[in-house]
Amino acid sequence: MMECMADQNLMEKIVSLAKRRGFVFPGSEIYGGLAGTYDYGPLGVVLKENVERLWLQMFRDDRDDMYGVDAAILMNPKIWEASGHVAGFSDPLVECEKCKKRFRADHLGAPSDSSWVCRECGHGPMPLRVRQFNMMFKTHAGAAEDDSATVYLRPETAGGIFTNFKNVVDSLHPKLPFGIAQIGKAFRNEIAPRDFIFRLRELSQMEVEYFVKPSEWEQAFEEWRKMMHLFAEAVGLPQSMVHELEVPDGERAHYSKRTIDFQFDYPFKRDELWGLAYRTDFDLSAHAKASGAELSYLDEETKEKFVPHVIEPSLGVDRTILAILTSAYKEDQMGDETRTYLALSPKIAPVKAMVSPLLKNKPELVEKARDVRAELKKVHPAIAWDDNGNIGKRYRRQDEIGTPFCITIDFDTLGETPNLKDTVTLRHRDSGEQERLTVPEVASRIRSAIQ
Ligand code: ATP
Repeated sequence: MMECMADQNLMEKIVSLAKRRGFVFPGSEIYGGLAGTYDYGPLGVVLKENVERLWLQMFRDDRDDMYGVDAAILMNPKIWEASGHVAGFSDPLVECEKCKKRFRADHLGAPSDSSWVCRECGHGPMPLRVRQFNMMFKTHAGAAEDDSATVYLRPETAGGIFTNFKNVVDSLHPKLPFGIAQIGKAFRNEIAPRDFIFRLRELSQMEVEYFVKPSEWEQAFEEWRKMMHLFAEAVGLPQSMVHELEVPDGERAHYSKRTIDFQFDYPFKRDELWGLAYRTDFDLSAHAKASGAELSYLDEETKEKFVPHVIEPSLGVDRTILAILTSAYKEDQMGDETRTYLALSPKIAPVKAMVSPLLKNKPELVEKARDVRAELKKVHPAIAWDDNGNIGKRYRRQDEIGTPFCITIDFDTLGETPNLKDTVTLRHRDSGEQERLTVPEVASRIRSAIQ
């Protein structure tokens, strides 16, 4: 196993594999791209869906206390005034006086009263003149393009959850504690989008707002903290690469009384993967005040009425995908060549298995292989077919996209060696090991690996 590649090199290899094999493409590529945007390709979209589906299963569907919504991205702008985003969702911006390149002041590593040197053109030292830059994208709803028609693209999906709190309570009458989960796009006009899909201007989030009695926030915080670690494990992130960072006073978002950042060892550095925040009753109280709506909860037993407090696990989909690709990317020596493979968890791998006839010009082999594929498709639809080139090349192609199993049908399957009739070769991605099994045995291997 050769795992000694320089990290910059690793990032380049991931970006290149992602493009070459149809996981992630630069956004608007034929027009020269658009900074901070990427498109998911045929395999990436399935990987993303698998991650989202697993999240929905663990964070919403397996639980009796969770509800889903899918709110509009465009919302009444008063929401973002009440939530504090119009006034405060900004990053500290500095601009090089020579090359005009813009940076986030908090990413320069310089104390606030010092001078700085431009990373782009080397100009400096110059005074650190910081101004606040609001990151919300603005657009206009309707035909008028004046300020009265300004709307924002949501900077977090949470807004659409808080504004539907009352609807969910009135329509489904959930008992506290309960939560609302949502997956969707969010938009941030990042000053310096960077590091592939790590810092995007258009991103996807998987968020839960979990409503509790004020006295019960700590218990819920701990439960969701554990849940986030379980999810990291479920998508295959090694525990050793996921770290918690208690965000100190003064550095938390304006709404939070406690935040833990889940950080990941990305190739470029350790940085934020997800966040877990205790948002108190900040949002519901602010929206109740600004909208005039009653956003409290009546406890039927005690007849007590109060504004619930909120725990928010917030998970970026794209940063999750980058963490998955980072930890799954492997190179090893197989035979006399270096092979590249993605050690993806079978649960999220876009292709679960590939079926192949040993030779494509032998109709008996092809027919049998087609039957085997049809049988395995009953376990999961993502069973690929490949009869191109030699078997070794077919295996390498699947290794590179993280397919956990390859199944080959040969003359023994047809009965050339009588005691091997109806058995196939099952080849394992990570070890390259092969074993001889019956088709029902292969089906049950695949089933148990992806459950
Ligand atoms: P950062 O400090 O890196 O800018 P943040 O603390 O502002 O991130 P949150 O507001 O907590 O991020 O957003 C919740 C989650 O959404 C993050 O943990 C991350 O997974 C994801 N996320 C936030 N901003 C981006 C972005 N620009 N590109 C991709 N994912 C993002």
